[in-house]
Amino acid sequence: MQYLRMNIVVTGGAGFIGSHLCDRLLKEGNRIFCVDNFSSGSKNNISHLLDSSHFTLIEHDIVEPLFIEEKIDQIYNLACPASPVYYQNIPIRTVEINVIGTLNMLGLAHKHGATLLQASTSEVYGDPKVHPQSETYLGSVNPTGPRACYDEGKRCAETLCFDYIRKRNLDVKVVRIFNTYGPRMAIDDGRVVSNFVVQALKGDVLHIDGDGSQTRSFCYVDDLLSGMVAMMGTSSDFHGPVNLGNPDEYTIDTFADKVIALTESQSTKEYTDNFRIDDPMQRCPDITLAKNELHWEPTISLEAGLSQTISYFKGVL
Ligand code: NAD
Ligand code: UDP
Repeated sequence: MQYLRMNIVVTGGAGFIGSHLCDRLLKEGNRIFCVDNFSSGSKNNISHLLDSSHFTLIEHDIVEPLFIEEKIDQIYNLACPASPVYYQNIPIRTVEINVIGTLNMLGLAHKHGATLLQASTSEVYGDPKVHPQSETYLGSVNPTGPRACYDEGKRCAETLCFDYIRKRNLDVKVVRIFNTYGPRMAIDDGRVVSNFVVQALKGDVLHIDGDGSQTRSFCYVDDLLSGMVAMMGTSSDFHGPVNLGNPDEYTIDTFADKVIALTESQSTKEYTDNFRIDDPMQRCPDITLAKNELHWEPTISLEAGLSQTISYFKGVL
């Protein structure tokens, strides 16, 4: 009989990152409870897991309280739309998911004495005035702008996590995830990686917001998962927040060139004036803390990660 190591809840388990996390934790011999309401995720991402006796799908909205009878050891709280286009369409709901949803998952963790890992984000730094961003930088978020539902929602979720540590003695880990990409990103969710790869594969024009001088640093999903799992496994007196991302930084313009080259596409670039309000102009993680505390750093190059992603989208198209 196979030894099952832990009972683990993954909220947002049918999403891009969550489904890869379910794969990995299942492969490591754990029992997984995947909680998702399929608002931005897809059953296709987890269809290969549905027959496993160690995988349970719970179709549930985390804004509602969740009760699980089996003893839970760990909770990865990922449920939340991540694409700016998507979450700005449902801003009030996005706040609810981050605040009420996180509160519900902290309550579930408390009931079970489980460790909870909160998927926070580089967006807590807003449009940063410090570069690269380290965890000591407190950020520059516009609380009334269209990104605030996500940025302030995630900031409040961090607040709740640290109040549960202080007041309820819960073991909570907070990771601040920087732009992550890979197979199973939703084809139409509007993020730059999926948009550019799909446009290039179709031979369509790549639409660059503004002049493309804004920067992002892209982390391949497998690298991110190693960081998340390492953080979950750290001693109970380290809670973060800790940045997880790839410090290799590109302008969006250069990134478009990379995608065109790697897809061997004839696509051209077009600069549009629909510059996104409060769009961070420079984003790059300082990962010194992750290196020191988790002995973690990304190992997968943009070329290698993009090749995997391009193959995936070729299949989808
Ligand atoms: P995603 O949209 O692919 O996945 C989110 C999942 O959560 C989806 O399956 C969705 O259906 C589910 N979900 C949303 N609201 C829910 C609710 N109320 N109840 C239950 N399930 C719900 O996004 P992703 O890129 O996989 O992001 C996962 C997490 O990582 C998010 O919390 C996001 O904020 C965080 N994050 C991602 C990135 C990135 O670059 N991908 C960067 C920073 C932070
Ligand atoms: N972007 C772009 N064209 C697109 C999609 C995004 O130029 O089709 C830009 C966007 O304005 C932002 C950056 O790419 O400056 C990253 O956007 P994304 O939606 O991936 O996520 P963000 O990092 O802003 O959360």
